[in-house]
Amino acid sequence: MVLCFCGKVVVVKMSWTPLDPGRRFFACPMNDSVCGFIGWLYPLMCVRAKAIIPGLLRNLNSVQERCNELVRSMNMLQEQCNGLIYRNNMLVANVKALKDHNLKLKMYMFGSWFFFVIVSFCIWFV
Ligand SMILES: [Zn+2]
Repeated sequence: MVLCFCGKVVVVKMSWTPLDPGRRFFACPMNDSVCGFIGWLYPLMCVRAKAIIPGLLRNLNSVQERCNELVRSMNMLQEQCNGLIYRNNMLVANVKALKDHNLKLKMYMFGSWFFFVIVSFCIWFV
Protein backbone atom coordinates (compact mmCIF):
# COMPACT_ATOMS: atom_id res chain seq x y z
CA MET A 1 0.00 0.00 0.00
CA VAL A 2 1.44 3.31 -1.11
CA LEU A 3 0.65 6.54 0.69
CA CYS A 4 0.99 10.03 -0.75
CA PHE A 5 2.67 12.95 1.01
CA CYS A 6 -0.59 13.86 2.78
CA GLY A 7 -1.01 10.30 4.13
CA LYS A 8 -3.82 9.03 1.91
CA VAL A 9 -3.80 5.79 -0.08
CA VAL A 10 -2.82 6.65 -3.65
CA VAL A 11 -4.93 5.90 -6.74
CA VAL A 12 -3.77 4.73 -10.14
CA LYS A 13 -4.31 7.19 -12.98
CA MET A 14 -3.33 7.26 -16.63
CA SER A 15 -1.29 10.00 -18.22
CA TRP A 16 -2.55 11.54 -21.48
CA THR A 17 0.27 13.99 -21.95
CA PRO A 18 2.24 13.83 -25.22
CA LEU A 19 5.38 12.78 -23.31
CA ASP A 20 3.75 9.81 -21.50
CA PRO A 21 0.58 8.80 -23.33
CA GLY A 22 -1.20 5.87 -21.70
CA ARG A 23 1.40 5.52 -18.95
CA ARG A 24 -0.08 4.68 -15.54
CA PHE A 25 1.02 6.38 -12.36
CA PHE A 26 0.19 6.66 -8.68
CA ALA A 27 -1.27 9.97 -7.55
CA CYS A 28 -2.90 11.61 -4.57
CA PRO A 29 -6.63 10.70 -4.42
CA MET A 30 -7.56 14.32 -3.72
CA ASN A 31 -8.10 16.07 -7.06
CA ASP A 32 -7.39 19.56 -5.75
CA SER A 33 -4.61 18.53 -3.37
CA VAL A 34 -1.30 20.33 -3.31
CA CYS A 35 0.78 17.36 -2.15
CA GLY A 36 1.81 16.62 -5.75
CA PHE A 37 2.75 12.99 -5.16
CA ILE A 38 3.40 11.08 -8.38
CA GLY A 39 4.93 7.64 -8.71
CA TRP A 40 5.18 5.93 -12.07
CA LEU A 41 3.65 2.47 -12.19
CA TYR A 42 5.22 1.44 -15.50
CA PRO A 43 8.66 2.27 -16.86
CA LEU A 44 9.14 4.99 -19.46
CA MET A 45 7.64 4.18 -22.84
CA CYS A 46 9.73 3.70 -25.93
CA VAL A 47 9.89 6.47 -28.54
CA ARG A 48 7.85 4.45 -31.04
CA ALA A 49 4.97 3.97 -28.55
CA LYS A 50 5.00 7.69 -27.74
CA ALA A 51 4.70 8.44 -31.45
CA ILE A 52 1.97 5.89 -32.20
CA ILE A 53 -0.37 6.29 -29.21
CA PRO A 54 -1.38 9.96 -29.84
CA GLY A 55 -2.19 9.08 -33.47
CA LEU A 56 -4.27 6.12 -32.34
CA LEU A 57 -6.10 8.34 -29.87
CA ARG A 58 -6.85 10.91 -32.58
CA ASN A 59 -8.14 8.12 -34.84
CA LEU A 60 -10.24 6.75 -31.99
CA ASN A 61 -11.72 10.19 -31.30
CA SER A 62 -12.41 10.69 -35.01
CA VAL A 63 -14.16 7.31 -35.24
CA GLN A 64 -16.15 8.10 -32.09
CA GLU A 65 -17.20 11.46 -33.53
CA ARG A 66 -18.23 9.79 -36.81
CA CYS A 67 -20.17 7.19 -34.82
CA ASN A 68 -22.00 9.98 -32.95
CA GLU A 69 -22.87 11.64 -36.29
CA LEU A 70 -24.23 8.33 -37.58
CA VAL A 71 -26.33 7.88 -34.45
CA ARG A 72 -27.75 11.42 -34.92
CA SER A 73 -28.50 10.61 -38.59
CA MET A 74 -30.12 7.34 -37.58
CA ASN A 75 -32.31 9.14 -35.04
CA MET A 76 -33.39 11.69 -37.69
CA LEU A 77 -34.19 8.86 -40.11
CA GLN A 78 -36.14 7.10 -37.38
CA GLU A 79 -38.21 10.25 -36.82
CA GLN A 80 -38.85 10.55 -40.57
CA CYS A 81 -39.79 6.87 -40.68
CA ASN A 82 -42.25 7.37 -37.80
CA GLY A 83 -43.81 10.30 -39.71
CA LEU A 84 -44.15 8.19 -42.85
CA ILE A 85 -45.69 5.33 -40.88
CA TYR A 86 -48.23 7.78 -39.42
CA ARG A 87 -49.06 9.13 -42.91
CA ASN A 88 -49.35 5.57 -44.23
CA ASN A 89 -51.79 4.67 -41.47
CA MET A 90 -53.87 7.76 -42.29
CA LEU A 91 -53.91 6.82 -46.00
CA VAL A 92 -54.90 3.23 -45.18
CA ALA A 93 -57.81 4.58 -43.09
CA ASN A 94 -58.84 6.87 -45.98
CA VAL A 95 -58.73 3.97 -48.45
CA LYS A 96 -60.90 1.87 -46.14
CA ALA A 97 -63.43 4.72 -45.83
CA LEU A 98 -63.49 5.13 -49.62
CA LYS A 99 -64.00 1.38 -50.11
CA ASP A 100 -66.94 1.47 -47.66
CA HIS A 101 -68.40 4.48 -49.52
CA ASN A 102 -67.87 2.68 -52.85
CA LEU A 103 -69.74 -0.37 -51.54
CA LYS A 104 -72.67 1.83 -50.43
CA LEU A 105 -72.80 3.48 -53.88
CA LYS A 106 -72.83 0.06 -55.56
CA MET A 107 -75.71 -1.04 -53.31
CA TYR A 108 -77.68 2.15 -54.14
CA MET A 109 -77.04 1.62 -57.87
CA PHE A 110 -78.13 -2.02 -57.69
CA GLY A 111 -81.26 -0.99 -55.73
CA SER A 112 -82.14 1.72 -58.25
CA TRP A 113 -81.68 -0.71 -61.19
CA PHE A 114 -83.78 -3.28 -59.39
CA PHE A 115 -86.48 -0.64 -58.75
CA PHE A 116 -86.24 0.44 -62.43
CA VAL A 117 -86.71 -3.16 -63.64
CA ILE A 118 -89.68 -3.69 -61.33
CA VAL A 119 -91.32 -0.43 -62.41
CA SER A 120 -90.63 -1.21 -66.08
CA PHE A 121 -92.08 -4.69 -65.67
CA CYS A 122 -95.19 -3.24 -64.03
CA ILE A 123 -95.63 -0.63 -66.77
CA TRP A 124 -95.18 -3.04 -69.69
CA PHE A 125 -96.88 -6.13 -68.42
CA VAL A 126 -99.52 -4.94 -66.00
ZN1 LIG B 1 -1.89 13.56 -1.19
